[in-house]
Amino acid sequence: MVNGGDMTGSRYEALVIGTGPGGAVTARALAEAGMRVLVVEEGAWTSPGMVEAYSLEQMRHQYRRAGLTAALGRPPVAYVEGMGVGGGSEVSLGLYHRPSAQLLESWSRDWCIQGLDAPALAGHGAVIERELGVGLLPWSMPAASQVLAYGAQALGWYGLQVPRWAVCREGGGVHEVEKQTMSVAYWPKALAAGVELREHTRAVRLALTRGRAVAAVTEDVRSGRMSEIAFDHVFVCGGAVQTPALLQRSGLNRNIGRNLSVHPTVRAVAEFHHRVNDPSDVPVYQVREFAPRLSFGGSASRPGLLAAALSENWPVFGEAMERWPHLSLYYAATQSIGRGRVRVVPGFSDPLVTYRLTGADLELLRSGLARMAHLLLAGGARAVYPAFRGAPKITGAGDVPAAVAAMSRARAGVMTVHLCGTVPMGEDRRRCGAGSFGQVHGTANVYVNDASLLPAAPGLNPQGTIMAVAARNITHFLSTH
Ligand SMILES: Cc1cc2nc3c(=O)[nH]c(=O)nc-3n(C[C@H](O)[C@H](O)[C@H](O)COP(=O)(O)OP(=O)(O)OC[C@H]3O[C@@H](n4cnc5c(N)ncnc54)[C@H](O)[C@@H]3O)c2cc1C
Repeated sequence: MVNGGDMTGSRYEALVIGTGPGGAVTARALAEAGMRVLVVEEGAWTSPGMVEAYSLEQMRHQYRRAGLTAALGRPPVAYVEGMGVGGGSEVSLGLYHRPSAQLLESWSRDWCIQGLDAPALAGHGAVIERELGVGLLPWSMPAASQVLAYGAQALGWYGLQVPRWAVCREGGGVHEVEKQTMSVAYWPKALAAGVELREHTRAVRLALTRGRAVAAVTEDVRSGRMSEIAFDHVFVCGGAVQTPALLQRSGLNRNIGRNLSVHPTVRAVAEFHHRVNDPSDVPVYQVREFAPRLSFGGSASRPGLLAAALSENWPVFGEAMERWPHLSLYYAATQSIGRGRVRVVPGFSDPLVTYRLTGADLELLRSGLARMAHLLLAGGARAVYPAFRGAPKITGAGDVPAAVAAMSRARAGVMTVHLCGTVPMGEDRRRCGAGSFGQVHGTANVYVNDASLLPAAPGLNPQGTIMAVAARNITHFLSTH
């Protein structure tokens, strides 16, 4: 019993912690199978449209700590986590990839994962694609994407329009895109199937007796009121930072929180002679000539986000904001050898996150910056403004080597929106935190079912893989209980 708290009384067959893609797939499948399911989510329900998409206001409302989070290291890696019903799916661009057979094979081999191959995931992937309306734009790509395609064509590099989870409608010359986030496509169906959802409710820790979790201690984050929830099974789906933190606070430490794997990313603003910036559009084109190790694409580019990127050398770059309709933000995303760690610190609610970029990682980021600059110049950019401290402006290919040389460890501006790997799945108990289907090793009824299970950042936008793996795991759970 929690000091000063109360028992909510009833017992649930399943408690799901977190409502992102992993939690949404999990809770809906459990409820549709007839189980009594409670879901707790620390954030709030914010329907698409209530807050302007891809804005600084959205960061304040739907990002943990308003997006001001970083993994410590040299350089630090700034990261963001979505927070609220739907998790990261609500703030994402909605770009969808299927995991390749080769990727699944290498994970299965390296981590001793059973039953994770392309045929095993294909059926789940097909259902998810249908549910989310995954498809290509029925009209031409936005200008900020077209310049990337021109650049790729000019250099002979492979690129593609990436499908999105969105329903697109066209009428009277107006394009309407309804992103199929979890709060749109999954949670209404989960609630209809009987899921009980408590927003503003943070799971603080699990109470375990001899490897069996019996209850979760939760806090109403508005009132501070503590409660205890009893259950038969618990599915932790808080994302790759919060899930290991919760497990550690519950005394589960073995291979939990190590192996944080992200896509370290460098960014640059590019300026074109013509208008490329449409604040309501998102870039959909990716250049994958060097994928999975290195890929290029566009980011959301509302004026506030452009200004934040240009602020890395505001005295020189700031004046470009006067021409913001001609500016758009781009990235080079890498797969890194380095790994990070999530550790809880007694007395603090937020975990300490660290990430160690290796020398090879930094070289790949430098190469990414150089190639991104060439790509943008080939696409018609008249200037490229790299987003790292004190970066020089690039106006031609001759400026690229100096910009690359300037991106030292001390000055590099590295960020990521893809966090994975902190409870890697697999049968190799020396390295894996959970079994092949997400059951935390050494426990009887604690499961992880989110990005934490992927053994490494996959070299592509990960949500499709996270959802397919979650669907596979829950199918396995239901077939064995
Ligand atoms: C800006 C941005 C853009 C992105 N764009 C894309 C994209 O285009 N395509 C793509 O594939 N991926 C994209 N991603 C990544 C994708 O969103 C994530 O990989 C995915 O959401 C991870 O899913 P998850 O279920 O593991 O966790 P999350 O989506 O992180 O959800 C976890 C949820 O659990 C809640 N929670 C955490 N701890 C607790 C607790 N203790 N108690 C209660 N609730 C808790 C959180 O508040 C959160 O809502 C993007 C991410 C961001 C941030």
